[in-house]
Amino acid sequence: MRSSDHLLTADSIDQYAATLHRGVDHLAAHLAGLQRPFSGVTPADSAAKVGPVDLDGPTLDAGAALAELTEVYLDDAVWFHDPRYAAHLNCPVVVPALLAEVFVSGVNSSLDTWDQSAGGTLIERKLIDWTCRRVGFGAESDGIFTSGGTQSNLQALLLARGQACLQEDDPTAPLSATLARLRIFATAESHFSVQKAASVIGLGAEAVVLVPTDHLHRMDAFALAEALADARTRALIPMAVVATAGTTDLGAIDPLDRIADVCRAHDTWFHVDAAFGGGLLASTRRRHLLAGIEHADSVTIDFHKTWFQPVSSSAVLVREAETMRHVTWHADYLNPKAAQLPNQVDKSMQTTRRFDALKLWMTLRMTGADAIGDMFDTTIDLARELFWVLTDEEWAADFEVAMQPTLSTLVFRFRPVEVDPSEASALNGRIRRELFAGGEGIVAGTTFHGETWLKLTLLNPTATVGGLCDLLDLVRTTGHRLLDSTGVVQ
Ligand SMILES: *Cc1c(COP(=O)(O)O)cnc(C)c1O
Repeated sequence: MRSSDHLLTADSIDQYAATLHRGVDHLAAHLAGLQRPFSGVTPADSAAKVGPVDLDGPTLDAGAALAELTEVYLDDAVWFHDPRYAAHLNCPVVVPALLAEVFVSGVNSSLDTWDQSAGGTLIERKLIDWTCRRVGFGAESDGIFTSGGTQSNLQALLLARGQACLQEDDPTAPLSATLARLRIFATAESHFSVQKAASVIGLGAEAVVLVPTDHLHRMDAFALAEALADARTRALIPMAVVATAGTTDLGAIDPLDRIADVCRAHDTWFHVDAAFGGGLLASTRRRHLLAGIEHADSVTIDFHKTWFQPVSSSAVLVREAETMRHVTWHADYLNPKAAQLPNQVDKSMQTTRRFDALKLWMTLRMTGADAIGDMFDTTIDLARELFWVLTDEEWAADFEVAMQPTLSTLVFRFRPVEVDPSEASALNGRIRRELFAGGEGIVAGTTFHGETWLKLTLLNPTATVGGLCDLLDLVRTTGHRLLDSTGVVQ
């Protein structure tokens, strides 16, 4: 084979098609034989497989390369496809999006400039407009696809920073002096990417002021108003308020309407991090939970969580398109000012950028938004049913639940009466690790009121209450086994 035969060109289409079909068949066969969500491989055992591969050694044909892939990766991958995977905000993915992936990487458009993507640019723009309409934004809105919620939050806060600096009374003040006075208001339940963004945009993580929450772990709007007023009296500049529509652990939705009012009264940028709850935009039953999101200045939506899209797919949306200018730069070779073409790079923090939007496009064209919303709703139903299961007598003897779920997470812990409160954290941490090592079911751990609890994150609509009860039973038997075998928890 000539080296150029490995390229996808008009001369190699037969080879291309044969190779890709083979890959699809290989994955399909692997999925058909899947016994559990994870093999339980340890980092050391995995290193023993990956390490010896000689990247400078003789090359392999597709069959041998796929066989090796099975050994170094597929056999030990963590499979979100299995309903017993219930740890993090990962979803099984819809097939139309996988169909789109063939074209995303096969055509390989880059969405930075019109002359590298043409129609792809307009497809992305149409999806942004469509999502903005679902949020309730008007014709002036805009946005851009990003690699994830972390990047969407970062970009939103960068735009907020740009706006806050513009509004500063003394435009001659050096930027560093202004940055030192900027504050971001969030809660302890907000995603850590808020602190990360604060640090990246030059404020430092300590510029994030944590506003108290109510008994349901939602931002207290009165406390927010007080915190903003207090900042003003100390000559600080409230740059942005970050409300969360679906906190990562408890799924709590901050009171968006009331926070919007407070932001308006204090002339502060209102960002809604709907990385988790954004799927409600497609829900026919629970869209009302996002009421008030239309008052936001910016919104983060993660399509790769509650829209069943493959990683990566996220968007940051803004109510006023002109605020996107804070990420605009003009390069003579790429997007000169005079070009007058729809160049997406003007709105993005990235330059070369994947056409991830196409996955959502094919999903909407083949699956439809209602079906996406129904699937998310089904997972929320599951979480709510499991909450009632765990409060039922038979289970309540062994389990404690943190809170009735709003979305599709359930925070709970194994705590039969004989477990000393001081040992509960260590025991639950141990249970989680045992489960992961066994690979039969995967749950997450988190901290609740300073202690280690367990968490189910349900994003698989094919899961059933019965199947999830089996998973909880695995937690219970593992817990009792650890108690019996050690007496003391390590
Ligand atoms: C997952 C999550 C993020 C981060 O999104 P990534 O896509 O993982 O970068 C931000 N905010 C919330 C509330 C999340 O749940």
